[in-house]
Amino acid sequence: MTADERWVFINGEYKRKEEAVVSVFDHGFLYGDGIFEGIRVYDGNIFRLKEHIERLYDSAKSILLHLPYTREEMEDLVCEAVRKNGLRDAYIRLVVSRGPGDLGLDPSKCKSPNVIIIVDQVRLFAREMYEKGISVITVPTRRNIPDALDPKIKSLNYLNNILVRIEANKAGVAEALMLGMNGYVAEGSGDNVFIVKRGVLYTPPCYIGALEGVTRNAIMELAEKLGYVVKEQPFTRHDVYVADEVFLTGTAAEVIPVVEVDGRSIGTGVPGVIAKQLMEEFAKVVKVDGIHAYGGHQAQVR
Ligand code: PMP
Repeated sequence: MTADERWVFINGEYKRKEEAVVSVFDHGFLYGDGIFEGIRVYDGNIFRLKEHIERLYDSAKSILLHLPYTREEMEDLVCEAVRKNGLRDAYIRLVVSRGPGDLGLDPSKCKSPNVIIIVDQVRLFAREMYEKGISVITVPTRRNIPDALDPKIKSLNYLNNILVRIEANKAGVAEALMLGMNGYVAEGSGDNVFIVKRGVLYTPPCYIGALEGVTRNAIMELAEKLGYVVKEQPFTRHDVYVADEVFLTGTAAEVIPVVEVDGRSIGTGVPGVIAKQLMEEFAKVVKVDGIHAYGGHQAQVR
């Protein structure tokens, strides 16, 4: 099946890519009113599907968006969409928008949400970037602060992140870090950040302005299992510059080492040993930790 022949789930039906369309009156389109998840499939295993579904339902609750399926039904629909597309390695985009309304802001005019499941492929960074590490910058655009729009809500409102991506593009780097509350480092445009100092891992607490990443949580658990101390603690740009290692985590990014930040080389200027160890361990768990779309094993490794 070619990319053009993919089946898209849209409100209970499967449509070909070009026929999978929603109304221009959808408040997801008009106002970014909706939520989403990005989920990966590794050799048929949908990595941490339950955690993604939980985050989706938490986001929905927070924005008072009623989902027409139970969590279990949603899990089944995601598995079915993967099977329908016959892919074993894929990226799933699960989108729920407020649905069509009128031109006003009022979401009570939107009578039923649009539920969309796209199964496709994604490559965020080139393969050699995982081997050599990437350069990043910090940008002037700040992360939304939690008392404005909580970044824990994975909403369709990504303009903040898109501005960061534009700044990264203009600077000719692969990714950029945003600062959050009080100028502490928050996260990347589409990934969480970790630093390592004297063998201890640090990642910003979500209240600084970060999504509670599924990959972030998985890496924290993996690192602890390997015997490392992991701390959710605010840190500054200075702490990043003088870290022994820096790496980013995300569903699309997976685990990627950072070797330069704002022109300062990190550690010895090559991917760190702990980052590399976590990349290796991560590559193992993604195939077993989750729900298998094609049946078979459904191991929870935790
Ligand atoms: N932060 C942001 C802003 C993101 O968009 C993502 C990607 N979903 C992440 C962090 C990483 O989260 P996850 O590991 O759940 O993909």
